Amino acid sequence: MTDLLYLDDSYLRKFKARVLDRTERGIILDRTAFYPGGGGQPADTGRILFRGIESNVIGVERGTLEHVIEGELPDIGEEIEGIIDWERRYRIMRTHTAVHVISGVAYQNFGVKITGNQLYDGRARVDLSFENLSRELVEGIIEESNQVIRRDLKVRVYYLTKEEFMERPDLMRVDPKLYEKYEKIRIVEIENFDAQADGGTHVRSLGEIGKIVLEKYESKGRRNKRIYVRVENE
Ligand SMILES: [Zn+2]
Repeated sequence: MTDLLYLDDSYLRKFKARVLDRTERGIILDRTAFYPGGGGQPADTGRILFRGIESNVIGVERGTLEHVIEGELPDIGEEIEGIIDWERRYRIMRTHTAVHVISGVAYQNFGVKITGNQLYDGRARVDLSFENLSRELVEGIIEESNQVIRRDLKVRVYYLTKEEFMERPDLMRVDPKLYEKYEKIRIVEIENFDAQADGGTHVRSLGEIGKIVLEKYESKGRRNKRIYVRVENE
């Protein structure tokens, strides 16, 4: 079992860990700060150091938590230092929290849920099921999202039991079946604004996002709409 350090500290960029297992192309660690991908957020990249050797972490497999290594592999039982490519990860954190702000504005004003999103380094694709969406409405949602960001609200992470969670349908922004396998549900809350079940990494307060810029709006059919946004420094 790998202890997932990023769940409780999204700002951890360096950590020490022990190698539990080795595969042909990577290693399993007893603890990690590398995000393994999921929920639209890509896996982290970075480096590991051991015995004065430096190898690259080019990805993490979500299911097995195998850190895919480019370069020499450490031995089983060896201690390594892991270092996340922080600039990339921090832009992804800003982007992820930005998508939650957009999601909150769309949900509160129109009762609309996001049906999918894909985060990239500083950019995001957001899919909405929203029949009457127009470019003007999207521009309004982005403008309101930027007003929320300027309030610099705090972001906090906490856990609910499955029973507590099942009484809060407002926290479920994706198919409730996806939560069934979890005993504890991790909630990401933007104080006094929005809360939802989420396993990703986020900034501590909205001011860190900067501002959201709308790049593109596409209608993919009667209900399905897609927007592309990026985050910029304010
Ligand atoms: Zn999220």
